[in-house]
Amino acid sequence: MRLLVVEDEPRISEIIKAALERAEFAVDTVRLRADAREALANTAYDAAILDLGLPDGDGLNLLAELRPAGSRIPILILTARDAVVDRVTGLETGADDYLVKPFALEELLARVKALLRRRNPPDITREVLVFEDLELDTATRQAKRGNRLIDLSTTEYELLAMFLRNSRIVLTRSVLMDRIWGMDFEGGPNVLEVYIGHLRNKLEQHGEKRLIQTVRGAGYVLRVAD
Ligand code: CA
Repeated sequence: MRLLVVEDEPRISEIIKAALERAEFAVDTVRLRADAREALANTAYDAAILDLGLPDGDGLNLLAELRPAGSRIPILILTARDAVVDRVTGLETGADDYLVKPFALEELLARVKALLRRRNPPDITREVLVFEDLELDTATRQAKRGNRLIDLSTTEYELLAMFLRNSRIVLTRSVLMDRIWGMDFEGGPNVLEVYIGHLRNKLEQHGEKRLIQTVRGAGYVLRVAD
């Protein structure tokens, strides 16, 4: 497994690289956004760790280029900005997870491994999960609504698969947070809402009826509204 670390502070970059190498990952490091862009274009990385504050610009802009270009590489963003708005912006721009500096190396490792697990599920069987006019192909990880093909980020895919495997069952916020991000996730209350919002935007583009319903005080459920 080869990882790219994009971090301009040499000390932090070295510490991260050493920790990942101890965990048997191959690690490349770059400190500029321009170098990251080039590295990602030339090497098939399994995941990237992206600092947002870089000398030649905001890491968010790199994210904003990657996702529309079709890249689905799992990306964990590092940010010194503790404001909810920055975390939410990062996730909205296509990051799969984030850590706020300073962070514990153990947590970084756990998050990276979780991202890779989510990207490389052990099952090799192809399943097409169906609900109403919505389909999700577990091999291509693409969704379809009618004939409309919908591309999903890693996290959106996991979330939608969970809904489809549990259609008409109310999934509580804590169950969803736990299954998607893990027990120790401290992302605050907004992260799940952000992803539900993404999914709804992608699933309901042309006046299509809402399938992910909010259950007040409980969570969400995949069903047709009454
Ligand atoms: Ca920085």
